[in-house]
Amino acid sequence: TIDNVTELAWGKMDNLLPAIIQDSATGAVLMQGFMNIEALTKTLNTEKATFFSRSKQRLWMKGESSGNTLDVMQVLADCDRDCLLIAVNPNGPTCHLNTTSCFPEEQLSQQNFLSHLERFVDKRANDPIEESYTARLLSRGTNKVAQKVGEEGVEVVIAALAETKDDFLGECADLFYHTLVLLKDQKIELSEVMEVLQTRHQKK
Ligand code: AMP
Ligand code: ZN
Ligand code: ZN
Ligand code: ZN
Repeated sequence: TIDNVTELAWGKMDNLLPAIIQDSATGAVLMQGFMNIEALTKTLNTEKATFFSRSKQRLWMKGESSGNTLDVMQVLADCDRDCLLIAVNPNGPTCHLNTTSCFPEEQLSQQNFLSHLERFVDKRANDPIEESYTARLLSRGTNKVAQKVGEEGVEVVIAALAETKDDFLGECADLFYHTLVLLKDQKIELSEVMEVLQTRHQKK
């Protein structure tokens, strides 16, 4: 955390520090911008990411015209305090080209692929299309979705005891996916489950 904005290494680069903007829920890098001391102060005070625009030579709150603002959850400085890492909750797409991130989707790490899949399940829930297995499963209701999770759980056990590594991997993947669908059915976000895991971990 940053106790005093003046203690950062502003002098190194024209009184600007690069700020890496990361989605706090998925870990995806959304964009990079520059902040001067005023932009950082405003970011900390308003909890909306605000940059210094080098082209416009003025403060620029992300989303000031598009409405796609970034709610700031945490601001960190790196080891030598010349770079900022800002965790946000984005309101809408971050890139002005209307994509979630300014970086291509390939940047998704394996860890946040579950979040990516969660968003895809959400898309199918909100906009069901005929040929979608996810949409059809969700439309069959809680009993059916929960039953599928139970079945996949049993299949994981059987595969662990009796089958090949590939079968086991496939069944684990089925279980993860169907659990995401059940979370959607229950209107629970993956991040809420992660919070429970983190809380338990911290107690140790
Ligand atoms: P906005 O801040 O979303 O209202 O967008 C206003 C203007 O800021 C856009 O027309 C772009 O010139 C610029 N802009 C918006 N989002 C980004 C971004 N992620 N990276 C760089 N420039 C951006
Ligand atoms: Zn550094
Ligand atoms: Zn962009
Ligand atoms: Zn299965």
